[in-house]
Amino acid sequence: MGRLIPLSIPNFEGNEKKYVDDALEQGWVSTGGAYISKLEEQMAKFLKVERVAACQSGTAGLHLALLECGVMPGDMIIVPTLTFIAAVNPVRYQFAEPVFMDCDDSLCMDPVKLRKFCEEECEFDGAVLVHDTSRKMVKAVVVVHVFGNLADMEAIMDIAAQYHLKVIEDATEALGTCYTAGRYAGKFAGTIGDFGAYSFNGNKIITTGGGGVVTGRNPESVAHMQYLSTQAKDDPHYYIHNEIGYNYRMTNLQAALGVAQMEELPEFISRKHRNLDLYRREFEGFALGKLLSFREGTSSNQWFYSLEIDREKVAASMREIITKLQERGVQTRAIWGLIHEQLPYQKSIAYEMERAPYYSNCILNIPCSTQITEEEIVYAAEQIKAVLTELSVE
Ligand SMILES: *Cc1c(COP(=O)(O)O)cnc(C)c1O
Repeated sequence: MGRLIPLSIPNFEGNEKKYVDDALEQGWVSTGGAYISKLEEQMAKFLKVERVAACQSGTAGLHLALLECGVMPGDMIIVPTLTFIAAVNPVRYQFAEPVFMDCDDSLCMDPVKLRKFCEEECEFDGAVLVHDTSRKMVKAVVVVHVFGNLADMEAIMDIAAQYHLKVIEDATEALGTCYTAGRYAGKFAGTIGDFGAYSFNGNKIITTGGGGVVTGRNPESVAHMQYLSTQAKDDPHYYIHNEIGYNYRMTNLQAALGVAQMEELPEFISRKHRNLDLYRREFEGFALGKLLSFREGTSSNQWFYSLEIDREKVAASMREIITKLQERGVQTRAIWGLIHEQLPYQKSIAYEMERAPYYSNCILNIPCSTQITEEEIVYAAEQIKAVLTELSVE
């Protein structure tokens, strides 16, 4: 057969080579150089925020946001269970304790359960929220905008305001997603809470190989995160450091890639939309699975496409489905295993899990690269339908 339609590969059709060559020629390859500030300006303008700090990764951005929230050992942080583990690990870098929350039908954190947890499992004294049984202080909530979908930020921000929780948005998958209606109309994912982190890893909507940015409502906080990301250097000429810093700053080579990728972001998003529309046509009326939609009142970047498989009709394991599709030249992947079930987190609190286990068992991500052709989409959809039909119980 020989053909393979990849799940998600980077697209370098723009000025990537030109800008990286330029950075090399200038000799600015490391954590100084004009492309870094250029990318920061470009991102801030795009996101309509005052300031962003470019980092080595989305994970580093999330860690800086937790530091900036003042998260200390023993604090409690509310996190989703249905997500990539990098959204949660930085909580443990701070020796804080995650509490795992269920998702709603958007695959993002369920605000109803979030409120219920704060109301029924914690005590609020007018200043801080304290967890009843452990007596730990609940400081923040990490909200992930899964696959480019927006979490219900209106509800989540209300709860956070009521209980004095900081909100860190993990917008690593949602660059370009925004509200089009409601209280936050015109606001981008990652710019609504106290902090927002974006990732430019290889499979994200834009890539710098590895990298990311972090932003925040308060520009001084963003400046401080940038300071922490450069080893907390207090003097440009002498080695004076007044805080513990990190080596989290993006390099100029990464930023050169990023500047070119940002030029193409609107085009990438429009291709993601066109491709999902094509898939929708192919899966229309298909009884064994349906494509999930993105939240109403938002314009999503439509980064990843989710096919919800009807588990009453197709009981085969994800492994079997994915292997059979691979043999037919279509690369797919299962959604993540739940984080509260992973070895490092099995002792943490997992609150009333219902939907996350369901979605974890039935979501298949299908090929969504920006370069995929219409013919490839038709082929991929045909193979997916054929494999699911072959594996169905009737
Ligand atoms: C990709 C991703 C991250 C981490 O970003 P990196 O740049 O790879 O460190 C964090 N959270 C989620 C939900 C992600 O998808």
